[in-house]
Amino acid sequence: MPSLRVQAAAFPIILVCIVLLVGDLAIASWVPLLLATAVWASIALVLVLSLASLWHAGHLIRPIRQLMPTVDTQGHLEFRSTTTAITPPEELRALSIVIDQIAEKQRRDDQAREKLERVRSEFLGNVSHELRTPIFAVQGFIETLLDGAVDDPAVNRDFLFRARLQAERLNNLLNDLIDISRIESGEMRMSFRMFDLQPFLRDFTNEMQPLARAKNIELYFTGNVLPHHEVNVYADKERVKQVLINLVDNAIKYSENGGSIKIELHNADPTHDELTVRVVDTGVGIAAEHLPRLFERFYRVDKGRARSSPGGTGLGLAIVKHITEAHHGRISVTSEAGKGSAFQFTLRKEPF
Ligand code: ADP
Repeated sequence: MPSLRVQAAAFPIILVCIVLLVGDLAIASWVPLLLATAVWASIALVLVLSLASLWHAGHLIRPIRQLMPTVDTQGHLEFRSTTTAITPPEELRALSIVIDQIAEKQRRDDQAREKLERVRSEFLGNVSHELRTPIFAVQGFIETLLDGAVDDPAVNRDFLFRARLQAERLNNLLNDLIDISRIESGEMRMSFRMFDLQPFLRDFTNEMQPLARAKNIELYFTGNVLPHHEVNVYADKERVKQVLINLVDNAIKYSENGGSIKIELHNADPTHDELTVRVVDTGVGIAAEHLPRLFERFYRVDKGRARSSPGGTGLGLAIVKHITEAHHGRISVTSEAGKGSAFQFTLRKEPF
């Protein structure tokens, strides 16, 4: 079919031709017989023209109709441009391509919105469940105390300690929730700068000693770098510390008394643009089937065990992953149930 522009140009030409024809007939109409013929010819011409216009309009509108959207079973707009049986004019073909692209984008936006909505409601469900457990526990302890246990020296202090533990859990959970929402919304400001990682890791190991010693765990730092050699990284000190606290705290929490935890610094290739920090423990380990989901929010291997400890929010590793990625690094884990785990993350040596 010719383009709309060609059709638009042809229409007035056809009209002019018709007017000229009718004019010729009118001149000829000085002859009475010809006059009657001219009138009937004009009427017939108008009829033919009207029918032709109708047919032509229908022909033009059909591809446009086929471009119109329909609503599918899920309420999404669907464009039928590809189902057209006739070849539409060039402008309509261009329009159909644009509409297809809009429809495709709309489909992708819808899918992303649905996914976001699913994740959001799943997250809300998890949060309310996690909050409810310590709140109910605190309520339970207070009510038991009020019902008379407060005067029983055999249990009153124990109940108060337990209530305090649950309040601590609530506090940890809220802090982690604030952190994760700030990281995910991009609100958490990172303060990147260059610093030497070796003294930083040594100081950190010393800071964590009391926690490890409380469980009779040996905690030490090893770096496969020259003793007085600087190992500079481009990172946010506070956030790297948060990652390490999470990993070492977990290593202590999921180790039996008397184990060992090693913080390793790997910088084997000085020309490489990143280095690796590993936290290796001899703890309970993690079975292989849990490893792929370990960095998901609220994912726990042993739900009962993690919930009974005061710090276990199930958000620690998700936060660690976010922070590592904000540093343009990667985090991974290798582990064997009953033998121990090794968490490793990379940091960049140069500004990114
Ligand atoms: P939690 O607050 O429960 O420790 P995390 O996100 O820090 O949450 O860890 C998720 C789960 O991964 C934990 O519940 C635990 O089952 C497992 N985990 C993490 N670190 C270790 C480790 N070093 N050894 C064994 N299991 C671990």
